[in-house]
Parts: sequence; structure tokens; C-alpha cells
Amino acid sequence: MSGQADAPRRTGALHIGVVGAGTMGRGIVQLFAQAGHTVLCFDEKLDAAAHGVAAVFATLESLVAKGRLASDALDGIRARAKSCAALTDLAGCDVVIEAIIEDIAVKRDLFGRLEGIVADNCILATNTSSLIVAEIASACRHPERVAGLHFFNPVPLMKVAEIIAAVRTAPLVVATLRAIVEGAGHKAVVVADQPGFLVNHAGRGLYTEGLRIVEERVATPSEVDDVLRESLGFRMGPFELLDLTGLDVSSKVMTSIYEQFQEEPRFRPSSLVPPRVAAGLYGRKTGEGWYRYEKGQKVEPARRSAPSLPGGLTVWVDPDAPDGDALAGLVQNTGARRRLSASDADICVVQPIGEDATSAALRLGLDPSRSVAVDPITPFVRRRTMMLTVTTTPAVRDAAHALLASDEVPVSVIGDSIGFIAQRVIATIVNIAANIAQRAIAEVEDLEAAVRIGLGYPFGPLHWGDRMGATKILQILNGQLQATGDPRYRPSPWIARRAALGVSLLTPEAPR
Ligand code: NAD
Repeated sequence: MSGQADAPRRTGALHIGVVGAGTMGRGIVQLFAQAGHTVLCFDEKLDAAAHGVAAVFATLESLVAKGRLASDALDGIRARAKSCAALTDLAGCDVVIEAIIEDIAVKRDLFGRLEGIVADNCILATNTSSLIVAEIASACRHPERVAGLHFFNPVPLMKVAEIIAAVRTAPLVVATLRAIVEGAGHKAVVVADQPGFLVNHAGRGLYTEGLRIVEERVATPSEVDDVLRESLGFRMGPFELLDLTGLDVSSKVMTSIYEQFQEEPRFRPSSLVPPRVAAGLYGRKTGEGWYRYEKGQKVEPARRSAPSLPGGLTVWVDPDAPDGDALAGLVQNTGARRRLSASDADICVVQPIGEDATSAALRLGLDPSRSVAVDPITPFVRRRTMMLTVTTTPAVRDAAHALLASDEVPVSVIGDSIGFIAQRVIATIVNIAANIAQRAIAEVEDLEAAVRIGLGYPFGPLHWGDRMGATKILQILNGQLQATGDPRYRPSPWIARRAALGVSLLTPEAPR
């Protein structure tokens, strides 16, 4: 690749080779052929490339039938996308993208062979999700021409691609791939060659903390999913997602990221998972995972219905409760009476952050058996999470549940926990994102965009932290760290410094 650094690479219509005509290879062929490039697809399995390209055409034909693609556009794509029978047919390509089996030895062998076929200035990119790009690049005489180009499934619809700059990747290779990806209408984000790259790294928190909450018997998988979907706006909860991906696949990703990060406690996998994998509870594809499936449809677990409200109820609400006015309104509307002293109230309601209900009740001098806690960080009008102390009586639990559900807002009743479900998960996600930013694995803007597009979260993680308040995120993490001593909860200095300065979590480091 000598001399290539001087001249910008051509990014108009290119010759793009795709090796591997499986799920990802087909999507990549479609994306770049639709973007106007000439695409040549090779697969080692006889006829697989021809079948793959035919499948792409069939997909596009259905788009034409739905009026979402012009038929002359399809004619152009047919002329530009071809399969080929030999790897050597890729000799004239400007870029070759590999999407074969996830095996380091097989990929290294392929890259070594490709280098003997293509021109010196051809870029070689790998779609690996979990291997070290530098390890693939080191099979080449010119590792500077090799980068990761990580798409998500389905490629044409998941409009983000990670460009992984391995330690030796030339800046021009990164710039060229960025131009090609953006020319095809996808957001390109540049990421360091680190475990899970960006999206899979940033997405860890949802699973690790969700599993931890279930491990601690704070809530069931479906209760965790309900709260995260309805209170925080996730499209799916962690257990629904694990069932969709397949626990057999996800458990390997969890273990591999933990090991590749040198056993970083933040990514420690849950011991709940291996027995379920051993039992074949993979999720949708085996008919049972965290949920059961009948004819491909999730069987909704029974949800606890709200008990009826007892008459003559007296309620004390912590005067510092953030939702104090809304809670007072509920009390008034139900005909219950507010008490100004906690000592003679049937129910005492507190709203702690990063603290369990038992500790909050004791701190405020309340009777824990008459106390419940309500999450103050989630919107009071969507779903309410009510946490019990260790000794909350069933009568107090039911009366408080009835009161909170009296205006038809659904209520989740959970066990005592340092921080509620939503608090714990959001704090974990923000903390992991902060560390990604601190380590400059990606620029803040790329991190935010990749998480929104790649994971479908309603906000980028650092912006989400700002919305919740950096001080509160810190309070939740410190509360968990102090109470459990588990280093997985140690807050990133990125959050601590910005919270202390009162600036946005999106604030990058000062230029040096
Ligand atoms: P797949 O099994 O659907 O397809 C792989 C194809 O590669 C097969 O057609 C196979 O015949 C072919 N192949 C295997 N070895 C080959 C070789 N040496 N030379 C030429 N062809 C070969 O796999 P996939 O899901 O498309 O994944 C491909 C790559 O993309 C993997 O590295 C995977 O980790 C990564 N990836 C997958 C996803 C996903 O959701 N499936 C998402 C992102 C990245």
C-alpha cells in the first residue's frame, strides 16, 4: 500500500468484493449494489454465492412490488451485483469485505490468500463481531490496508457500521471506508480495536445488570422487562432480547467480552446462564427461554393484578419525595388520608436513589414493616415500581399497591434492592458508556449515534445520563458500590469529574 497516503482514494462507484454469501454477506451485497457500486460475491461453498445474489434480487423484487424500489433501479442492481466462482475473480476489486465463518484461523488464511490476489492498494475489511482485527491483519504483509467493517443484521435496515481501526490500520483506509459507508446512507462510526467494538460493548449493561437483578431475586425476568420497556422506553427488555438472539449465542458473547477485557468485573457473566444453556433454554428458537413460545408467539406471563383498596387508609409521604405532589394527589383522590407524622400512618412512602427500601426507612426513623419505596427517576405516569423492605407486611404491600394503581397506572412490586430496576440499569449503561468515552474507544458523538441506531435505545447513553442527572447516576453507582463492595459498580472518573464540575456528560476531554 505504499504511496497511498498521498492521494485521496476514489470513493465514487467502486468494485467491491464480498467473501461469504450468508446472512451478512447478502446484506452487504445488497447495500453496496443499491448504492451504485459493482459488487462481486464469492463463497467457498458451491453455488452459495449464486444463491446469495439471487436471494438479494428476490428481496429487491419484493421491494419493487411494494413500490419501495423503482424497477429500473433493480435492473441496474442486477447488472452490477454478480457472483463469482473463484477467489481470484476478486483481483480487480478496490475493497474486499469478508463475511465468512467467525473463526480466526479461517479468516487469517483467507486474508493471507486475498493479499496475493488483489492489487496493492485494495482495502481488506472484516465483518468480524468478536475477533481482534489486528490478529486478522497480522496475517497480511500490509496490515495497514486491513480494517474492521462491522455491520449489523439486517444490514440494509441497521443503518450504522463500525469501522474498526486496528493498531496498524492506515488513516486513509479508515477515511475511505467511512466515505463508502456514508455514501451508502449508513452512519459510519470509527472505533478502536477493543472487545465488542462499540455497540456490543455499550450494550453489555442492559444484560449484566438485568441478570444481576434477577440473580438477587429483586424481580423476575418479565418484571425487569416490563419496567425497562414501559418506564425507560427500551424497545425490548434484556430477557426478551436474550430470547430473540438465543442464549447459546449471547452466553458466548458475554463470556468472550468478559475474558477479552481481562475479567473486568463490569462484564462478569451471570452464573444463571450456563445451566439454562445446558438445558437448551435458548429462547424463541427452542420454544422456551426466559419466556415460553407457542407457534412462535411469546406466552405472556401472568401479571399480578392490583388488590382492592382498603377503606380508612392513612398514608405518610416523605416530604423530600420528588413525586410528593403526585403521591399526595393519589392519596386525596382515593379518599385515603395523609398523615403528617409517620408514627401513626398505615403506610409510609419513601423515594430513595441508590439506596434500598430497608436502609431508607431506617435512615428516616420509619417502621420498615409499614414502609414501601417508589422509584423517583421513572415517569410517575407510565409504570410505577414499588419496592418492599425486608419486613413490609403483606397488608401494607397490598394497600400501597392498590393506592399506587388507583389511577390505572400499572405497578411493579419488587424486592429490596440498592436502587430500583430502572436506576440500576440506567446507571450501569451510563457508566459503561462513560468508560468507552474515557478510553477514547470512540468519539462521544459516534458513541451516542451508534447506541441509538445500533441498539435502538431512545437516547444516546451519555445524553441519557444528563437527562437523569450525572449526580444521581453517581449516587446510584456509589450506593451499590458501598453496599455490595462489588467493583463492577465503581463509577467512571468521566462521570465523577463532570458531575463535580456541573457540566454535561457529553463534554469531551480538553484538547491537548
Ligand atoms: P453465515 O454462516 O450466515 O455465512 C457465512 C458464509 O461464509 C457461508 O455461506 C459459508 O459458506 C461462507 N464461508 C465460510 N468459510 C468460508 C471461506 N473460507 N471462504 C469463503 N466463504 C466461506 O454467517 P454470518 O451470520 O453471515 O456471519 C458472517 C460474519 O459476520 C461472521 O464473522 C460473524 O461473526 C459476523 N457478523 C454476524 C452478524 C449476524 O447477526 N449474523 C452480525 C455482525 C457480524
